[in-house]
Amino acid sequence: MNRVVVIGGGIAGLSTAYFLAKKRLKPVVIENENETGGLGRCHKVKGILIDSGYHIIFKGDKHLLGLLKELDLEKDTVWGNLDFNLITVNGDISFSPLKILSSKSLSIPEKRKLAKVYFKLKNLKDWKSLDKFTAKEWITRNSNIEIYEKIFEPIIKAKWGRESEGTSAAWFYGRIKPRSESRNIFWGKEKGGYLKGSFRKLFSALEREITKKGGKIITSANIRKISIKGNKVESVKYKIKGNLREIKTDSVISTIPVQELLKTAKLADDFEKKIKRIRYKAVICATYGLKRGLTKSFRTIFSEKKSFGGLVEMTNLIDKKHLGNNHVLYVFNFLDTSEKLWKLKDKKIIETYTNDLEKLHPGFRKLVIWSRLYKNRYGEPFYQKDYLKIMPDVRTPVSGLFITGMVQSYPISDFNNIIDLAYRTSDLVYREVTC
Ligand SMILES: Cc1cc2nc3c(=O)[nH]c(=O)nc-3n(C[C@H](O)[C@H](O)[C@H](O)COP(=O)(O)OP(=O)(O)OC[C@H]3O[C@@H](n4cnc5c(N)ncnc54)[C@H](O)[C@@H]3O)c2cc1C
Repeated sequence: MNRVVVIGGGIAGLSTAYFLAKKRLKPVVIENENETGGLGRCHKVKGILIDSGYHIIFKGDKHLLGLLKELDLEKDTVWGNLDFNLITVNGDISFSPLKILSSKSLSIPEKRKLAKVYFKLKNLKDWKSLDKFTAKEWITRNSNIEIYEKIFEPIIKAKWGRESEGTSAAWFYGRIKPRSESRNIFWGKEKGGYLKGSFRKLFSALEREITKKGGKIITSANIRKISIKGNKVESVKYKIKGNLREIKTDSVISTIPVQELLKTAKLADDFEKKIKRIRYKAVICATYGLKRGLTKSFRTIFSEKKSFGGLVEMTNLIDKKHLGNNHVLYVFNFLDTSEKLWKLKDKKIIETYTNDLEKLHPGFRKLVIWSRLYKNRYGEPFYQKDYLKIMPDVRTPVSGLFITGMVQSYPISDFNNIIDLAYRTSDLVYREVTC
């Protein structure tokens, strides 16, 4: 039986390969970077692994938690309270039901409208019905424009920047739903989990299991060509240490951004046209090791424009002993590559963030022990209104070529959704390969 080639060694590639390996299909994972992990990669700071983008687990992440249990990693999760704070010119708004009730920054009718939006989303049965609305259209219809501008617009802007107006209402549902499931009771605090030792532990465990079951992981290897003959996959060519290698195969699963896939394979014109409409937001995420924390919240966003989208203080979720005994602050942006910030040198970006943080928290500069920067051209597909119309199926028009990962992890791109997708993809591929 031919080997199945999985392109990309992020969570999508590794978990798909793991499920295939469990089905005895001996997958080969080909990863461009010198290690796996993709967007879940880590920085090594003074011997400690720290996620290069903040990554947490929600209580309702049943696929992720199931996988951690299967790999005997559930025991390594630590849990804390997730506080989410919006800083406005009229005062702070903390997104916990009790704090919203007692908030002086919101009037009683505003609180009522906010509750209506929350419960409508929480109780919605079919999120796909939201795909045809922008978040702005749907929220305004279910509250009013003032509520949208005061509360929801800053949240959406923190994620999608200047394109926030076009964001799909389904994405917004995806933000609210896991959170509502992360509370034991409605009034309870929202819980967030972290994998002690970083998500590297999950990637290493997956790699171990894949190789133990006869699969293979090839890193620092760039896919150059997927050969297709008579509308069927024939082989995959990749470059490693300057040499071109080829694997004969009739099954390829791509987990890389669709734009990168299109550089390696000629697909049907109408299919190419459709997936070319998917645009990715780049991500910049700076990590600071600080002498002390800045706020008491896990996540802070601002209604007034800053050089960054928001802040995440990981050590307000978990004890700093898990992160090298420093307070860990993430400063993030999801943006277009045409934006000025993206074009700056890494040092300049850190300087820009540091200057803005110094204005917000005078004395910030003196708190900094270390800083690191992570950038990725493909941070997340922009989940715009009508995304379902351009989202590709797992099965492509080419026999033996499949697509899985972030591009279909709609309405929310996270490990949990992607692991679920990976499981379903491995099932589909197994049935096709063995029929
Ligand atoms: C700042 C930030 C915070 C986040 N927080 C959370 C969170 O708290 N919880 C959560 O669950 N999720 C979170 N996410 C989302 C999560 O990281 C992604 O959904 C997930 O990592 C996407 O996995 P993927 O495998 O689909 O893509 P990727 O991780 O992008 O993997 C794709 C892989 O393909 C490789 N590749 C690309 N081109 C080629 C090529 N030509 N040849 C070979 N290999 C190639 C890349 O190097 C990469 O390793 C966060 C993301 C970001 C950016």
